[in-house]
Amino acid sequence: MVIRLCHAHTDAPRNDDTAHQKFVSVAEAYDALIDPTTRKIYDKYGHEGLEQHKQGGGGHHHHHDPFDLFNRFFGGGGGGGPFGHGGGQRHGPPMEVRIQVPLRDFYTGRSTQFTVTKQAVCGTCEGSGSSDGAVDTCKTCGGRGVVVQKHMLAPGIFQQMQRPCDACGGKGTTIRHPCATCRGARVVREPETFDLHIEPGMPAGIRLTYENEADESPDWVAGDLVVNVVEQEPRLAGEGAPDPTHRADGSFFRRRGDDLFWREVLSLREAWMGDWTRNVTHLDGHVVPLGRKRGMVVQPGAVEVVQGEGMPVWRPGGEDEGEKRFGALLVEYVVVLPDKMEKGMEKEFWETWEKWRRKKGVDLLKDSGRPAPVKGRHDEL
Ligand SMILES: [Zn+2]
Ligand SMILES: [Zn+2]
Repeated sequence: MVIRLCHAHTDAPRNDDTAHQKFVSVAEAYDALIDPTTRKIYDKYGHEGLEQHKQGGGGHHHHHDPFDLFNRFFGGGGGGGPFGHGGGQRHGPPMEVRIQVPLRDFYTGRSTQFTVTKQAVCGTCEGSGSSDGAVDTCKTCGGRGVVVQKHMLAPGIFQQMQRPCDACGGKGTTIRHPCATCRGARVVREPETFDLHIEPGMPAGIRLTYENEADESPDWVAGDLVVNVVEQEPRLAGEGAPDPTHRADGSFFRRRGDDLFWREVLSLREAWMGDWTRNVTHLDGHVVPLGRKRGMVVQPGAVEVVQGEGMPVWRPGGEDEGEKRFGALLVEYVVVLPDKMEKGMEKEFWETWEKWRRKKGVDLLKDSGRPAPVKGRHDEL
């Protein structure tokens, strides 16, 4: 990184050669260099050309704070490091973890824990990095962490370079006897366990913020740990299967917002003739009875809405304020026809159909408006 302190092009009296003026020039140079147009002007015509360009209406009229400029180049300093919030204390980077939770836990709510391996301030040396507590100021950079090199390229033209100090690695301090635990790094990686409270009805994909629980460092205030709570893919029996006591039907529910979806299979007889019952075991183990009396038809693909049997409606942080509300359970009926029938049964069915199609058949063809097939009639109940 090169900053040119360029006074050679100005005709201004030399007594302006104060530190402040130098900084302003640096800021100006920076302004000029980040804009391709002004950069060209600055390179060709210097400060004066730039002034003219500005008066002509182009360019930016604000100057960057020269100290802000240095911070941007080198980090640290008077506040606002790489992850700083400008002016305040330096903050470490945020962390995000993803936690998979079964749908059942979103339904019932659950208090659990999770463990994250993160960077922590070394407890042995309390973040000093030194086994005896002695930390020396770096002799090379005088504790600044950076060294400045300045060359005069031509009379009045300086090239100034600032780079991290090699001797201390930019820390500004040196340690003679490094801590045995962290080997002078001042930080260690270690697991930390956190409580996780899943509230009933909490939306999947929610991001929970654990303030200042991200990676720690003696150099910064830890950033936030963000926990992304997602719904676990349903697992059936076998590998990673849910607890057998929870076998129930939990794996087959699907959630959308406050509603739950369920697919129920009916035989041809059940769908058509009625007289059937089902007990659906809900996510918390309670039973939702489904069924039809004799004579009640369920069409394939029909959806029954059972109010109050969906997900609990989430109240963020709220416990028992008033009555609990629930979304709906939507039951889709799938009808399966038999592939095979016993011979006798097939014969009886056939005869029944034949008898009734002649008497009371519905002519599907007539209603469809399509031309009649060449052979015979096609009608069905
Ligand atoms: Zn240590
Ligand atoms: Zn140093």
